[in-house]
Amino acid sequence: MEKGKKKENFESRGKTEQKSDRKNTVSCQNFKKCGGCKYLNLPYDKQLKIKQRMVQELIGKYCKVNPIKGMKQPFHYRNKVHAVFDRDSRGNILSGIYKEGTHQVISIDSCLLEDETADRIILTIRGMLKSFKIKTYDEDSGYGLLRHVLIRRGFATGQIMVVLVTGSPIFPSKNNFVKALLKEHPEITTIVQNINEKRTSMVLGEREQVMYGRGYIEDRLCGLTFRISSKSFYQVNPVQTEYLYKKAMELAGLTGKETVIDAYCGIGTIGMTAALKARRIIGVELNKDAVKDAIVNAKNNHLENIEFYCNDAGKFMEDYAANNGKADVVFMDPPRSGSSESFIHALSILKPERIVYISCNPETLARDLELLGKEGYKAVECQPVDMFGWTEHVESVCLLSKRGVK
Ligand code: SAH
Repeated sequence: MEKGKKKENFESRGKTEQKSDRKNTVSCQNFKKCGGCKYLNLPYDKQLKIKQRMVQELIGKYCKVNPIKGMKQPFHYRNKVHAVFDRDSRGNILSGIYKEGTHQVISIDSCLLEDETADRIILTIRGMLKSFKIKTYDEDSGYGLLRHVLIRRGFATGQIMVVLVTGSPIFPSKNNFVKALLKEHPEITTIVQNINEKRTSMVLGEREQVMYGRGYIEDRLCGLTFRISSKSFYQVNPVQTEYLYKKAMELAGLTGKETVIDAYCGIGTIGMTAALKARRIIGVELNKDAVKDAIVNAKNNHLENIEFYCNDAGKFMEDYAANNGKADVVFMDPPRSGSSESFIHALSILKPERIVYISCNPETLARDLELLGKEGYKAVECQPVDMFGWTEHVESVCLLSKRGVK
């Protein structure tokens, strides 16, 4: 995540730089300190070339790699914004991010990647703390209240969730705080207090109290509505996600007859997008809050051919295979670490016709393609998608099939 100057600043800077060979690059006062935007000093088209080359080098030996799908508007695409709160040695309140590799907080006012409304809300909260006598949490002493603020905005719905992460359950003048925040930002649709009393680098704790609204937001993707709660995973770049899912559906080649597994399913977005084109969908996900969201989402979208299980994807698939379960198509969308040995083993028993692998890390994708190759799966096509402009991260969707054809 990279923080930076306001849009007007980088646009005017962009103009002056057009004369030089640094054409279309932007500036950010926190470049290097933040460490999020590794490619900030590169023009956007150059970033895409680098990512294309990265995927080509890792995946090209397994299958054809299509030209990367870049963003039309590569700024302020992040719908989820996180700020850590702290104080400097003079007692000034800081809100921003940890300096790369440290626990030192860099104060940030706005970021080139983040949703601008979310950034404004964080600044408002920072400004309110003094008058409400709310202390920021001190990691060393464990003293103080406010640890983090997390904001999520549904780009299609405009709904906004503010999560105030506190080091203890008591929030003094809670109602007045909520009222004052809503007065400044009537666009906020829900405010949640998340209580994290542990000395941990994890942002969110287990317990939550809804302070205002419904406790979650909704967003729309691929014609469906999804409820998203604070702890559930949701893709950070909804515009590119629509493209990614559409491509995943095209590669899956569903006809309406298939049994489909959506593994690492989060709140069920991929499975539900596939549900109208398949006979039965089974979603599996480890995070219980995400599974709860997924079940509600299926109901709200009137989808009756989809069911969800809360389990480790590998373990679930092994059990499913051992019980003679069938799967024609498997979507898999694991975290950066890629899939697990048990998951690959389960695939080797289930033998789906096609596997659609969505990956945010081409290195583990390459490793898993190698392993799946040994199980008789050939990679057919890989589509890189830029979901994370200005950073070195790249998403890809890759089709594998038993017969090596689409
Ligand atoms: N497919 C979803 C989520 C992808 S992110 C989407 O497109 O939105 C990866 C998901 O895998 C996260 O929701 C994470 O909670 C889940 N996860 C991580 N490890 C897992 C495991 N071992 N088994 C099942 N799910 C897991």
